Amino acid sequence: MTGAVASLPGVLAVIGVDDRGPSDGTGSANCPHCGASGRYVIRFVCDDGTTRAAMRGCFKLFGESQSLTAQLTQEAFRRSDDARLGRRPLATWWAAILEAVEKMQRDHDVPAFRAAVQASEQRRQSWLRANGYGRRRRR
Ligand SMILES: [Zn+2]
Repeated sequence: MTGAVASLPGVLAVIGVDDRGPSDGTGSANCPHCGASGRYVIRFVCDDGTTRAAMRGCFKLFGESQSLTAQLTQEAFRRSDDARLGRRPLATWWAAILEAVEKMQRDHDVPAFRAAVQASEQRRQSWLRANGYGRRRRR
């Protein structure tokens, strides 16, 4: 429904992941990017200053969507949902990333935002190493 793939901007940060219910037709939403039906809508800010939304498949078409910052911010919102649903507590480094996302939306200080996300990730990696986990789990 939109223009050429080459015109898609780069992802700066994920700013939310909305669960629109099962994708079996009972509670689904449509991808804001292509119109396909699905469940999770990822909201994100881009390096051209726009705020966009897309489902997982289309999110991947955007530049930098596989960058560490984009992946970590996406994961932080997923963990925050888990915590809200009582599945597991929210680790301080995920909370710090969510705070950094909020702050960046207010002050638009992108370098400070990236630094905050990296610092949180370093704390997480240290904790994982200290607790006997491998360098990285599934993602
Ligand atoms: Zn789509």
